[in-house]
Amino acid sequence: MFEDKNQQRTSLSEFGEFRLIEHLTQYFPVKHKTTTKGVGDDAAVLSSSEDETVITTDLLVEGVHFDLSYMPLKHLGYKAVMVNISDVYAMNASAEQITVSIAVSNRFSLEAIEELYAGIQLACETYGIDLIGGDTSSSTKGMIISITAIGKAAKESIVYRDGAKPTDLIVVSGDLGGAYLGFQVLEREKQVFEVNPNNQPDLSNYSYIIERQLKPEARKDIPELLKELDVKPTAMIDISDGLSSELFHIAKQSKVGCKVYEEKLPLDPQVISTCEEFQLDSTMVALSGGEDYELLFTISISDYDKIKGNPHFTVIGHITEENQGLHLVSRANQEIALKAQGWNAFSNE
Ligand code: ADP
Ligand code: MG
Repeated sequence: MFEDKNQQRTSLSEFGEFRLIEHLTQYFPVKHKTTTKGVGDDAAVLSSSEDETVITTDLLVEGVHFDLSYMPLKHLGYKAVMVNISDVYAMNASAEQITVSIAVSNRFSLEAIEELYAGIQLACETYGIDLIGGDTSSSTKGMIISITAIGKAAKESIVYRDGAKPTDLIVVSGDLGGAYLGFQVLEREKQVFEVNPNNQPDLSNYSYIIERQLKPEARKDIPELLKELDVKPTAMIDISDGLSSELFHIAKQSKVGCKVYEEKLPLDPQVISTCEEFQLDSTMVALSGGEDYELLFTISISDYDKIKGNPHFTVIGHITEENQGLHLVSRANQEIALKAQGWNAFSNE
């Protein structure tokens, strides 16, 4: 971490755009039979099937969405893909292709962009995604990455945000708050580093939460698992801005309210210990910390037996009538109105 000096530096302008694209995309074999033509022509060609097509785009701007002083470029490439395909999985669909567009200033060398693409490549390999195109441009300042993901699902299996019904159970995959705390640790270390660049931080106590921030994994396994269990969620969303904010999205679009229980929120032990150290309330962190990329979904109560005891899932509450609003039931059994505050509200404090 924090080192990137004295390495070879080939300037992008001396390399040339055509060679750059060819160079960067050479290690991306096509895997899906739906990809008729990937990188290399004026446009990619996909063959359509009976399934519905799912498309989603994310834009990541340096200084707004990522900070390269502690985010290695390889991790950034990997995370940029995760952020995007997570939205595909949140539709209960499978992700098959991505396009990647980048704008970079002359501050970045060929080697830096190679690192970014090494991360994109690892993500494509691990998640079975074809890189089928993109665009490349210079920018006057910083780096911008835009990724579009394309996926598919049978019409009857797609899950929207608007299907939650009163009495449905609210379920999350994995655990919450880790990515936000990883961010807090990295921010603190960045400040220490600015004061003393020779300081080698010992981050071993924070390995899980730093990994949650720097190398998040999209939950490709969850749509697959739900299919195996024969459970179709009534609504689903991925947790990018924080649990509370995502609950508001589902509640608004489904025209319902909800009750979630503080004692049920899934927290990793490292999240709990780091909250103590930073004097943060772990419930607030679970509700408002973003970027965990877990899935939040609702299921009919009649499906409860199918997910009961499954280590991937935690039932955190239930859907209510719209006029009941959105509430957190505290450990002391008090009902506290939820706020839609996500990542932004949090970082403004
Ligand atoms: P055009 O001038 O038609 O936009 P480009 O030279 O930008 O063509 O792109 C040539 C091919 O390379 C196309 O298949 C395009 O999708 C692909 N491509 C361009 N930039 C990238 C990139 N950053 N990552 C992956 N593929 C890219
Ligand atoms: Mg182009």
